[in-house]
Amino acid sequence: MKFGFDIDDTLINLRQHAFNIYNKKLKKNIPLASFHALKTVEIHEPFGLNAIEGKQLWDSLREEIYFTDCSPFPGAVEALNELVHNGHQVYYITARNKQFATKTKEWMKEIGFPVVDHHFYCGMEDHEKITIIQNLKLDYYFDDKPAVLETLIDHSTQLYVKDHLYNEHLEWNRIKDWKELKQLY
Ligand SMILES: [Mg+2]
Repeated sequence: MKFGFDIDDTLINLRQHAFNIYNKKLKKNIPLASFHALKTVEIHEPFGLNAIEGKQLWDSLREEIYFTDCSPFPGAVEALNELVHNGHQVYYITARNKQFATKTKEWMKEIGFPVVDHHFYCGMEDHEKITIIQNLKLDYYFDDKPAVLETLIDHSTQLYVKDHLYNEHLEWNRIKDWKELKQLY
């Protein structure tokens, strides 16, 4: 079967990693509890930033956020390697800017994810993911972002939401822990 995955906040804990970097850069010590209470994808609010300032900070730190020591979610690397080991195909579909495509692919390999070069899609807009998902005829697709998932509901691919507070209103199948993946297929 064909399995597709978003990367950021689906397979890796990017927002929390960025939250820690924000604390360091802004010389603040906002507790992680504030992060866990966030109901938005964006993380700037506990730092007293507005949406524009938050976006500027994110954009100025993207290289550091993307390519340092962000942790994968527990069990994610193992679960995807197990899929490949069992003969399934794994695809990555990330809306990170195209300029980061090659480096992101190499970074994913380095931290242990199974990556086939031509199974890696990067640089589309959120709403363009659907075209790729349809063309690939994925059996399963996993993402965290409501704006992406809402474009996909009418299609034959089985969708799973990676569980976060900001997507708890979506009443779809969800995965909380990557160790559960093998029970889904
Ligand atoms: Mg994501």
